[in-house]
Amino acid sequence: MVCLHEPDGCYTYVSPSVRELLGYTPSEMVGLNPYELFHPEDKQRIRTEVHTPALQGVHHLAVSYRIRKKNGEYTWFETLTRPIFDNDGKVIQLQTSSRDISKRKAAEEALQHQALHDVLTGLPNRLLLNDRLSCALARARRHNTMVGLLFCDLDSFKLVNDSLGHEVGDSLLKVVSERLKQVIRNEETVARFGGDEFIVVCEGLSHKEQASEVVDRIRSTFAEPFLLGEAQQATITVSASIGLVCDDGRSTSEDLLRDADIAMYEAKRAGRDNVITFEEHFRTSVRNRLDTLAALSLAITNNELELHYQPEVRLRDGKTVAFEALLRWEQPQRGVMSACDFIPIAEETGLILALGEWVTNEASRQLYEWRRSHSTHEYTMWINVSARQLTDPRWLRHMERLHEMFDNDLGIEVTESSLIQDSDAAVKALRQLRRQGIKVALDDFGVGYSSLAYLRHLPVDILKIDRSFVADLGEDDTAEAIVASVIGLAHRLDLVAVAEGVENGRQLEILKRLNCDVAQGFYLSRPMKANDLFPMIHASC
Ligand code: C2E
Ligand code: CA
Ligand code: CA
Repeated sequence: MVCLHEPDGCYTYVSPSVRELLGYTPSEMVGLNPYELFHPEDKQRIRTEVHTPALQGVHHLAVSYRIRKKNGEYTWFETLTRPIFDNDGKVIQLQTSSRDISKRKAAEEALQHQALHDVLTGLPNRLLLNDRLSCALARARRHNTMVGLLFCDLDSFKLVNDSLGHEVGDSLLKVVSERLKQVIRNEETVARFGGDEFIVVCEGLSHKEQASEVVDRIRSTFAEPFLLGEAQQATITVSASIGLVCDDGRSTSEDLLRDADIAMYEAKRAGRDNVITFEEHFRTSVRNRLDTLAALSLAITNNELELHYQPEVRLRDGKTVAFEALLRWEQPQRGVMSACDFIPIAEETGLILALGEWVTNEASRQLYEWRRSHSTHEYTMWINVSARQLTDPRWLRHMERLHEMFDNDLGIEVTESSLIQDSDAAVKALRQLRRQGIKVALDDFGVGYSSLAYLRHLPVDILKIDRSFVADLGEDDTAEAIVASVIGLAHRLDLVAVAEGVENGRQLEILKRLNCDVAQGFYLSRPMKANDLFPMIHASC
């Protein structure tokens, strides 16, 4: 579209192409001031960037802006402006040539949207979140309000993906984001931070308690089960672990994101489906865990690991029938650490697999050594195994080979609670191990809340009665009743009952009276280094 204008902008000539581009006739346009058609937000820019310089004689100024068509809609134009001079060099007219660039603009906007939004859920992505968060913080400083940040991570999302497939996993993420969008208010942003992590930013808080109202709304979205799959055939219940942090007037976006992440992690550790508000000391506990993890990853190469062995005694005849291998970590600066102080940390990362492999190797090396030097086959070696190892194909192959070497002399202990968390795959692996002839003990039995019906399906040979029950033996009658019924249950199911944590003669007497098969505990023997063990056993024989 080619036009001529008065210096104030009014059209004096408009080419016929205006019909097609804007829907007006040329005569409707002549005499009109184009500022009446420009988008209010673009007027000022056109004046300063193009109109004023053109009147001062500057050539070839390009500008893109929105202009109103006859039907009331705006479209994008790109216009080149050229001043026309009289003989004295004074600008007497302006000439413009314009074209419609709305297609290009739409493509640019789509690209921009794509760059700032998550493809799967259409929610703002990390980039846009950072931008919104910085703006929110700037506004909060101006208005003296606070910004709250929620870090939500779905619980057991990996399980959904692994057991129902990635498509169902994807549709779960979509439905979750739909529900989140529905409960979000105007002054809040919900973004997908990655994987199964969602972030909610809430602005304009005047006190911290207001954030908990947002938390309630977010949690309500998980109350109803999710119907997934094409025919909505899968019904699953999902919860989320939520970390909450409020800015303290100095926080940056990075601070808030990091602290909310740490709080979310604490929520997971607290047992999922939890909300935890960030506290300063979390940072040191994360530091400590990271330090421990870093040192632990070097423990194997630095030769800082050791197994101690605790004898297990058959109550019928007082004979030692087995040893439980218990892992110790001795650091030059920190001294000896018990497994419960570092195994849970290793279990949060893949490091548990390397540790587990080391334990398996070392215990079987020791078993081999005892067989060779004492030419005895009377002892079973029990190693503790994390549920994660059970699904590690490398470890499973390793166990298979070891079993060929040791027959029934090598057994594994798995805690009831870890099986419940990781159930299906782990139970399958246990079944396979047991088919190969490897014995399985259910450790810490009684504290894992598994139902008796569930126990019936677990592939185990031994129940190890948790030491919390044994500790109360002789102190209160309910403990004795519980221990008696666990022993009875074990025998009914054809399982061996082992009592752990026997600390005095009285407990031992009660266990004998209750027909317990095997006992283990400080009263009988503390866990010991391999070299100290045999002299002691031979002495007692
Ligand atoms: P657990 O399997 O229940 O092991 C028995 C724990 O009870 C051991 O603690 C042992 O020293 C302690 N104990 C034994 N007799 C008594 C007693 O009479 N009284 C009291 N109060 N305690 C007694 P430890 O060695 O600190 O191990 C703690 C836990 O760490 C173990 O509990 C086991 O779940 C885990 N663990 C140990 N070694 C390994 C390992 O190699 N791999 C894995 N995944 N976990 C391990
Ligand atoms: Ca154990
Ligand atoms: Ca135990």
